[in-house]
Amino acid sequence: MSYDNLAGRTAVVTGAASGMGAATAALLASHGARVALLARRADRLETLAAKITADGGQALAVTVDVTDAESVRVAAERIRREYGRVDLVVNSAGVMLPNPIDAGRTDEWARMLDTNLTGVLRIIDAFRADLLAAAAEGHPADLVNISSIGAHISFPNYAVYGATKAALTHLSASLRTEFGPRDVRVTNIEPGLTDTELGGHIDNAELTEQLDGMFRAIGPLSSEDVADLIAYVTSRAAHVNLRQVIVLPTRQA
Ligand code: NDP
Repeated sequence: MSYDNLAGRTAVVTGAASGMGAATAALLASHGARVALLARRADRLETLAAKITADGGQALAVTVDVTDAESVRVAAERIRREYGRVDLVVNSAGVMLPNPIDAGRTDEWARMLDTNLTGVLRIIDAFRADLLAAAAEGHPADLVNISSIGAHISFPNYAVYGATKAALTHLSASLRTEFGPRDVRVTNIEPGLTDTELGGHIDNAELTEQLDGMFRAIGPLSSEDVADLIAYVTSRAAHVNLRQVIVLPTRQA
């Protein structure tokens, strides 16, 4: 089975300004899905939308901050107005801000929780009725959450980030019990080291160097590797749900 049956689907991808979200949006569009691109940096979204359109696809740039409920509500209204019902949602927006717990960085803790967990919930709330309606009419319907291998491992300085991802992994599994019986697939993707902008927001030079060292030693996945996986899981026959996929660089233990 190829990715052909993505044609005609209507997707929302958060975090589409860079990294996995941008790569996923481009790949879904290249297989015929209409894709709404969500993130805060409008210029990035416009550039990607223009590229997708130039390549013959359909994309809509929608500036949104997932930590702002009103912003998500306005974005969802616009997407439904321009594209109609959404049947594929990818939650890729996220931030990773490691620091020793002793640093007491409540600002970073709040930002990670509000983006990686509550932000995902805001998006799910905005589009769950669409997904359920699509499934009720016999169409494939997908919710894809990008969690992390960090949901399963303990690593100093990454406690709060890991906690947001562990919560997201648990959320995905629990949502299957509510959405699965109504034919909405829930897929939790748990990548390892991937070459994106994620580490660029770390404000601790020692931890930046540590992460750089891991990249050099292990060799990361690319955003396209993860996008390929997302296109694969969302293009299976509608009764097939890969519910949890851990994807690591081969050299990452
Ligand atoms: P990037 O930093 O490249 O992508 C994150 C995206 O999220 C950006 O496009 C950013 O755009 C967007 N974003 C951040 N905050 C908000 C917000 N408040 N509202 C809307 N959009 C927001 O990193 P990745 O592609 O790596 O990250 C994608 C997901 O993958 C994240 O959830 C991350 O935790 C997870 N992950 C990453 C791994 C890695 O090694 N890279 C490994 C495992 C999981 P903008 O700033 O314009 O809003």
